[in-house]
Amino acid sequence: MSQQSLPNHVYISSKIQDKPAPDWTRFVCVSDTHNKVSLETYHVPEGDVLLHSGDLTEVGKLDQIKTAVNWIKSLPHKHKIVIAGNHDSTLDKPFYEEYWSKFHHYKENSDDAIDMIRNAGHGIVYLEDESFTIPESGYQVYGSPYTPRFYDWAFNGDRGPFLKEKWSKIPPDTHILMTHGPPFGILDATVTKENVGCVDLLQRIQEIKPLIHVFGHIHEGYGVFEKKWETENNEDTKSTIFINASSVTRAYKPQNKAIVFDLPPLN
Ligand code: 5GP
Ligand code: MN
Ligand code: MN
Ligand code: MN
Repeated sequence: MSQQSLPNHVYISSKIQDKPAPDWTRFVCVSDTHNKVSLETYHVPEGDVLLHSGDLTEVGKLDQIKTAVNWIKSLPHKHKIVIAGNHDSTLDKPFYEEYWSKFHHYKENSDDAIDMIRNAGHGIVYLEDESFTIPESGYQVYGSPYTPRFYDWAFNGDRGPFLKEKWSKIPPDTHILMTHGPPFGILDATVTKENVGCVDLLQRIQEIKPLIHVFGHIHEGYGVFEKKWETENNEDTKSTIFINASSVTRAYKPQNKAIVFDLPPLN
């Protein structure tokens, strides 16, 4: 990914410039950290808001949730908005109750995992099909952990009616959308060049046109893509910046740099 190809005010973490003005908000995106990152092994730039798009852990064991939460706690951002991914099994209680033995030798307590992340403090905000408004700027963030079914992992949903219903809950005034997985056709290609993103999510995004959509899940899709939406009169061109922030590679190595973007005050 070359820096030249990035939209205005979007940076990879090694090439950050100053905020355009002090009243802009700096967002730092990571995803799919899978317990492979620490303060020593992975650089997370400073900023106002951290966004983590899920797959916090290897397989959602309580000590793995704790390690991930402690790492996030130790970061300097005032708000740290986090969603789960398909690997974070204990955070999906109904799923875990049924399938825990596929992942763990002994059963963990889902309630403890959920409590650990929901009540972590230190600015951590956990979103599961819900919104958070950033108090200082008024930006509305919506987060959802669901991805299209693939080998029966946590927060998997069938394509079609089930996921359509999930995405219908995204409020139309959402500025920043966080999901674990990509929409169809955007930074969603696997190593075999198959586009595995969610068509139903793409459809909802076309209705809402959020400013930013941050996701991960398809590690090899890491990167940034700006979509300029067609308008009837060609005025007021809206665009959505899509960010696949997967921090680890397909081989689970923490080699993809954090992606940073700045947004102006809302008026
Ligand atoms: P994870 O297991 O961390 O959720 O995803 C890791 C990798 O599994 C991705 O980078 C991708 O290569 C593969 N993967 C995840 N979901 C899908 C899917 O729905 N279809 C295909 N073909 N591969 C997937
Ligand atoms: Mn502390
Ligand atoms: Mn992952
Ligand atoms: Mn995933």
